[in-house]
Amino acid sequence: MTTKQKVENVQSELNIGVIGHVDHGKTTLVSKITNKWASKHSEEIKQGISIKLGYADVSFYKCPKCKGLQAYTNSQVCKYCNSNTEFLKKISFVDSPGHETLMAVMLSGATLLDGGLLVVAVNEDIPQPRTVEHLNALKIHGIKHLVVALNKIDLVSKQKAKEQYLKLRAFLDNEGYNDAPIIPTSAHFDTNIDALIYALLDTIPTPEHDLNAPLKMRIIRSFDINKPGTKIEDLKGGVLGGTVIQGKLSVGDKVWLYPGISKPIEIKIKSLNAEDVSYESVHPGGLIAVGTDIDPFFCVGDKMVGEILCTEESKPFVSQKIDLVYTKIDALVDSNKTPFSVGEKLVVVIGSQAYLGVILKLKGNVLELSLNKSCVYYKNEKVAISRNVNNRWRLSGYGEVK
Ligand code: GDP
Ligand code: ZN
Repeated sequence: MTTKQKVENVQSELNIGVIGHVDHGKTTLVSKITNKWASKHSEEIKQGISIKLGYADVSFYKCPKCKGLQAYTNSQVCKYCNSNTEFLKKISFVDSPGHETLMAVMLSGATLLDGGLLVVAVNEDIPQPRTVEHLNALKIHGIKHLVVALNKIDLVSKQKAKEQYLKLRAFLDNEGYNDAPIIPTSAHFDTNIDALIYALLDTIPTPEHDLNAPLKMRIIRSFDINKPGTKIEDLKGGVLGGTVIQGKLSVGDKVWLYPGISKPIEIKIKSLNAEDVSYESVHPGGLIAVGTDIDPFFCVGDKMVGEILCTEESKPFVSQKIDLVYTKIDALVDSNKTPFSVGEKLVVVIGSQAYLGVILKLKGNVLELSLNKSCVYYKNEKVAISRNVNNRWRLSGYGEVK
């Protein structure tokens, strides 16, 4: 499992968000599916929780000789019959924090997702609060394709596992996820990883990408790749990390950066990379590192998070005040039944960025919000809204930007 494998030279086709209550085994399971840890950030490891969205690409293969689920693998050599396996597709897993105060960050990934992997521990009551919240976050963003891992089956009896399975089935059906398969797994003992890989391939299709649509790309990272002391003539431009939402992006393209650096600017694309592979052109799927001609100073330490790359035809709106047509999901939090009031603070996640907002006006189900800084948005875009309940930001519902 640890041998370094040749990287398939194709781009990831879709993004799958890993969701679920803290400690249910998301990180362990993703590391078994991908043979690597999604969270590489040192701070994340120190604190034992993921702070930023972590991406891990994995190639899936099928053994031409083996029959049934055991034919599905992440390895180029079949562990049962030693045959060379056949490449199927590359997928990106987006690891999201299960810690409740980081819910807003988790939600910021949802607009970038094509499907979800929900991890539920079999040895705890079903459902746990974050399980409900995360699943609703997916629902808000219209993500229908879901695979569920009922994890830690090594910890319970067969009878208990069956009871928990039925509870989970009823919960998923009630939430509208009737078609989501439930795969019993033990990340510790590598149990049913092949069945899980099959379920992911079978349940979450590659979305159809209209490559001729004008580019929309959300930035979720940014950095300066120059070592301290690099001579000015050798300095490389700032790097933007993000996911293409629509259209395509090629080396040499000139595109707009919104809201830009104090104003929108036109930038030139110098390079495109995903994990160890460079590309001439990229489409939706995976986290892409975009080399640019921006002064690297502006990209240090994720300063560009929340920005959008676009073309003349796909320029977003920029504003510090927005109107939201609001839908509340009362079942999420008890105190959610209390009506909003002018002056109440909310956290709204627009695209890939969380903003603190204050309600300026209320009219029916329309909220006028003033944000802590300018946001970039598209009309009718769905945004997740969290309310402060006992000093925690809890998902409360969603809005559509007018
Ligand atoms: P996350 O917070 O959902 O990412 O959960 P982690 O992957 O960090 O796992 C939480 C704890 O559960 C760790 O101590 C893991 O070793 C343990 N764990 C994960 N999967 C399994 C499993 O299948 N069986 C058992 N017994 N423990 C597991
Ligand atoms: Zn085989």
